[in-house]
Amino acid sequence: MPGKTRKAPQGDYESLYRGYMALTRKMEQLSALREIGLAISGSLDLDETLAAIVNVVQGALDVRRVTIYTPEKERELFRPVIAKYGEDLIMRDRLNEEILPGRGTPLGEAMATCNVVLCQSHGNGAAYVPLIAKNEPLGVLSIEDRRDGAAFSADDVSFFQQLGAQIAIAIHNAQLYAMAVTDGLTGLYVRRYFDLRMQEEFALARRYRRPFSMLLFDIDHFKRFNDTHGHQVGDMVLRQFAEILRRNTRQSDVCCRYGGEEMAVILPETGLDEAARIAGKFCALVRDYPFHGDGNQALSVTTSIGVAAYCTAYESPGTMVRAADEALYRAKENGRNRVELAVD
Ligand code: GH3
Ligand code: MG
Ligand code: MG
Repeated sequence: MPGKTRKAPQGDYESLYRGYMALTRKMEQLSALREIGLAISGSLDLDETLAAIVNVVQGALDVRRVTIYTPEKERELFRPVIAKYGEDLIMRDRLNEEILPGRGTPLGEAMATCNVVLCQSHGNGAAYVPLIAKNEPLGVLSIEDRRDGAAFSADDVSFFQQLGAQIAIAIHNAQLYAMAVTDGLTGLYVRRYFDLRMQEEFALARRYRRPFSMLLFDIDHFKRFNDTHGHQVGDMVLRQFAEILRRNTRQSDVCCRYGGEEMAVILPETGLDEAARIAGKFCALVRDYPFHGDGNQALSVTTSIGVAAYCTAYESPGTMVRAADEALYRAKENGRNRVELAVD
């Protein structure tokens, strides 16, 4: 009827309002999902990906504690691999006291059922979200202690389920990438990754005139070593050699298996003098290291090292590597167990 509006019954307003609130909540969830998706797809590095996940989940969901657990021992135990507690980002080595049992716990239940488990007894409530990639649960994300004090509701469950799937794919991709760039025997980066990083460092050095260097190692008389002690002991030595490199380099250095018994280390932000000092240190570390095979007897191994530092005379990463290789050749010629520097 014109001029007259029918008065809506109270119930209609209520259901409209409920619908409006549900839509608003859905929009918030979608925008959180998008924000999280963008943040975690920025890196292929596993630790960077894990850190991005806990950071952005904590912020987007406004909670105090976020932890990622992976199962161990047939899911008997859950080991935290990274956590964000308040302002603190905590990596796996410092989380040993937070290992939880899998049996009879919401973590174990989330993993076994592949469903989100809500738990209200814990502080301001907690959600355990299974991380499922390619139909396989690879861990559990725990989201605990909402800052607004509210508990999670059944309404959050489908959102968390989607969130878990998205996060799991990011972790799965980072794990695949880590496998593709890691040498199976030594755990060092493979040659292809070395080539890639050399190109990147070379471009940075050229554009911003930053120093950077590389070391090329070749174990001395390794053929003879294998003949004397056996190939398997040779393999054990290669693993120990790699460990020496890893333990005595910075996080930003790139340790690679260049091929066979040849290793390479890229040293960003490092000039020739410093690189030569580092190479000398490695030469001594290897010479003095008690390499061991199956028995207790310490085995003696030495290495020769070629050093090249970036300079404008090198027209490509390949030229720089060749210069390090020529220096290495001279180290061999001059008696092995020594360092030689590239001349450009
Ligand atoms: P030098 O470098 O001092 O001139 O002598 P070398 O005997 O080390 O020289 P060369 O580079 O010719 O030989 C490398 C040897 O390294 C040959 C190969 O049997 C051994 N080697 C390469 N890769 C592996 C590996 O993965 N495991 C083992 N055990 N040995 C390997
Ligand atoms: Mg060799
Ligand atoms: Mg050799």
